[in-house]
Amino acid sequence: MYILIDGIPSRYEYEKLARVFFPDQKMNESEADDPGALRIEVRRKGSRLSSRLRLGSSEFYDEVDAPEELAQDRNYCELTIAQLLCRQLIRLTGFNPPWGLLTGIRPMKLLRMLTREYGREEAERRFREDYLVSEKKLAISRRTIVGEDKILSLSKDNSFSLYISVPFCPSRCSYCSFVSQSVEHAAKLIPEYVELLVRELKITAGIAASLGLRLESVYMGGGTPTTLSAEQLERVLTATAGYFDMSGVHEFTVEAGRPDTVTPEKLAAIRRSGVSRISINPQTLNDDILRSIGRRHTVAQVYEAMDMARAAGFDNINMDLIAGLQGDTLASYMHTIDGVIALEPASITVHTLAMKRSARMVTEHIARYNAEGLLASQMLDYGEKRLTESGYDPYYLYRQSGMVGNLENVGWSKPGFEGVYNVFIMDETHTILAVGGGAVTKLKQPGVNNIERIFNFKYPYEYISRFEEMMARKEGIRKFYDQFC
Ligand code: SF4
Repeated sequence: MYILIDGIPSRYEYEKLARVFFPDQKMNESEADDPGALRIEVRRKGSRLSSRLRLGSSEFYDEVDAPEELAQDRNYCELTIAQLLCRQLIRLTGFNPPWGLLTGIRPMKLLRMLTREYGREEAERRFREDYLVSEKKLAISRRTIVGEDKILSLSKDNSFSLYISVPFCPSRCSYCSFVSQSVEHAAKLIPEYVELLVRELKITAGIAASLGLRLESVYMGGGTPTTLSAEQLERVLTATAGYFDMSGVHEFTVEAGRPDTVTPEKLAAIRRSGVSRISINPQTLNDDILRSIGRRHTVAQVYEAMDMARAAGFDNINMDLIAGLQGDTLASYMHTIDGVIALEPASITVHTLAMKRSARMVTEHIARYNAEGLLASQMLDYGEKRLTESGYDPYYLYRQSGMVGNLENVGWSKPGFEGVYNVFIMDETHTILAVGGGAVTKLKQPGVNNIERIFNFKYPYEYISRFEEMMARKEGIRKFYDQFC
């Protein structure tokens, strides 16, 4: 099935909205004769705003007149047409997206912007009535913004955070969309990768120091950094602590994501290097599902990894979970949430599965799509209730395209254990200097919403073979800041 959009030239927002209901469907103008296509006509003629939607024998047409004073206001008109279209898509599919018209990944950023401009009450009214966000999602946003704001206040104009990428994993999880190499294929590249990573850290630290930038947080992710040996981890982490001024750092995180990569030696090396926070990610406490998603570790290994981490002296441990995994039931998910809460990690990040390859969302599959979304939504509701009862508060929230039920990812933590890097990166608060394969440096212009990016090569073999080329690009960091100082 194709989605065909006609009318207003700026179609991108309408395309994204249609994909909330029909993920994975392609836009294809050359298939204009396809009788199975979803046809959307959005128009703005004078003050008349309209949307027509057709799929098979179903057709909807709605129009409204913009008030005279707003008829030339492009934002108002496009938002109004999007509301018409969204309501038609709801009627067609029976699916009521909980985040309404919001298709971007940062709903909190929009709420914060609206609050700054109109005050809290009006911002919430617009979220609900203009963007059609549900009461439930408004409520979690309201709670989350409190935690986020506390963290954002730590950042200054010359702040930056450091991201260290280790794009290797023991095996590939079926739902993964990251650029990560299974070690089975890339193990021989790791020693050289580590050496170059250390060189890149030194170069990056030199640039940061020469610009007078102030380091707020460090995050080593990937991939699974604990795929490296204890010696390799210590080499990279001590180099980081040695090259950068760590005196103002609020948090130094290493993702020890896959429990099957965790050993007492690696944890000791991480701890010795000054790391304050680690993440051990079960995703689910159901062995059958772990097998089916290609995680290649067991629930027992999750418990062992947690015991090892505690024995190594870590008290700030995050655990990641996923709601909506194929084959998971509400009962099994409830067991996962309860089991993870019983382990008392400092924070728990609840993701909703983002579908890499969704079911074909033609009409006969809409019922299944809705059922999967409803189940994931019930999972999140249960999680929210149990986490709240257990003393966790939401402190960051973001969304991805293609999420089951069009839901969200939420970071929950005990007070004082919020993951600050997560908030900085999601809010685009300050510059992120990133090192390693696939890493993207994001340069934030102080005081405004302008971000420039410098990309490292994605794959470890390119990272190694084209290292000098990438280091030359890093000079762009200095050029960027020179414009404003
Ligand atoms: S551990 Fe994470 S990065 Fe690695 S394959 Fe699985 S989901 Fe992807």
